[in-house]
Amino acid sequence: LTAAAQEVVDEIEANNVDFLRLQFTDILGTVKNVSVPATQAEKAFTEGIYFDGSSIEGFVRIQESDMRLTPDPDTFAILPWRDHEDGTASARLICDVVDTSTGEPFAGDPRGVLKRALDRAAEHGFTVNAAPEPEFFLFEHDEDGRATTKTNDAGGYFDLAPKDLASDVRRDIIYGLQQMGFEIEASHHEVAEGQHEINFTYDDALATADNVATFRSVVRAIAAQHDLHATFMPKPIAKINGSGMHTHISLFTEDGVNAFHDDDDEFNLSETAKQFTAGMLEHAPALAAVANPTVNSYKRLVPGYEAPVYIAWSDRNRSALIRRPAARVPAASRVEARFPDPSCNPYLALAALIHAGLDGIERGLECPDPVRENIYEFDEAKREEYGIDTLPTNLGAAIDALEEDEVVMDALGEHVTGNFIKAKRQEYDEYRIDVSQWELDRYLETF
Ligand code: GLU
Ligand code: MG
Ligand code: MG
Repeated sequence: LTAAAQEVVDEIEANNVDFLRLQFTDILGTVKNVSVPATQAEKAFTEGIYFDGSSIEGFVRIQESDMRLTPDPDTFAILPWRDHEDGTASARLICDVVDTSTGEPFAGDPRGVLKRALDRAAEHGFTVNAAPEPEFFLFEHDEDGRATTKTNDAGGYFDLAPKDLASDVRRDIIYGLQQMGFEIEASHHEVAEGQHEINFTYDDALATADNVATFRSVVRAIAAQHDLHATFMPKPIAKINGSGMHTHISLFTEDGVNAFHDDDDEFNLSETAKQFTAGMLEHAPALAAVANPTVNSYKRLVPGYEAPVYIAWSDRNRSALIRRPAARVPAASRVEARFPDPSCNPYLALAALIHAGLDGIERGLECPDPVRENIYEFDEAKREEYGIDTLPTNLGAAIDALEEDEVVMDALGEHVTGNFIKAKRQEYDEYRIDVSQWELDRYLETF
């Protein structure tokens, strides 16, 4: 056993852990669990745990279904919401998926896809830091226990208790996250009723993607204990703000220097940061398919609700796709991609963003000037004058853009792209042929 693995085995003993949940995500970002008795821990670290991959959406065909999970000891955490009465506990470990026929990382494992992106950054001498800002809504259940879109509070942005009745729930969520090893920086009520945001500290991109996956399960589990449904659906209610997952990114050199900072630049952004930004802007339509992967994502990306629509960057305005947030110290210089939403697979979204940014660096792309006005208020002529394009307006168009973008397709790899596009086309087609309540309200009695 490695020292890190031995430490986990000791922790398991010391905390009376009886079951281990071995976790990974499928292509769509759903967390999958294989539960094993904690007595299997050593074996999991040395030999891995075998499972049938054909039962996982978009993983593999039946004839090539043997997969192996190898747990990452750095991801060990005791689950706070499974405190058993007999004093035993459950813990989880996040795993890499290995293809048993080749012994290589499995091409359909999103965590492996992100690791490849980080390898490419490493070839340039960079490590990648990322911090996400996942927003979510808390809704009540109806009598049958089904989620509604009824909120349990009437708070507004940064409102304090007692108006913010949800602050109790949010506090419990924060305790739960802290027990899972999160360092919480801030939490607040968001703009919309029932909407919340909890920020945790930045980390390297892999740990951050792991954290997002964990965050979503902890928030849902603890909300459920309060009989509330937490949803990361991007736009649950029309005509009010939706939920984004702004993603802050910076590259650091091997000596721990922030490669995005430049003291002499007007925006304190280095040429590297600008090229990275230019890369994200150039690939934005295809990136949207990965960072905004649901039909509903495109209901959020409309003007007027603090979500971006236009492909531009800004050093102040929130209507732009990418923003340079104010940084207090050089180490904090970063760019904020504002288009991702929390329905994305965090591993794939980060991988795609990183590859797009590195493409900008490799090609030395020139970054356009920042746009300082509120782009929502631009008419078409003005947008044309500034050369500002728009994001795809629906999932179908985003998938089309993805299919035309070699860089983003290569970022995900053939296996993931093929399965992802197939699943998303089907999702969009189902939506396209459905007849909605809006249509009935509008046409049923008119025609
Ligand atoms: N909820 C907004 C969105 O959809 C973001 C609000 C904010 O700036 O935090 O992206
Ligand atoms: Mg926010
Ligand atoms: Mg933000």
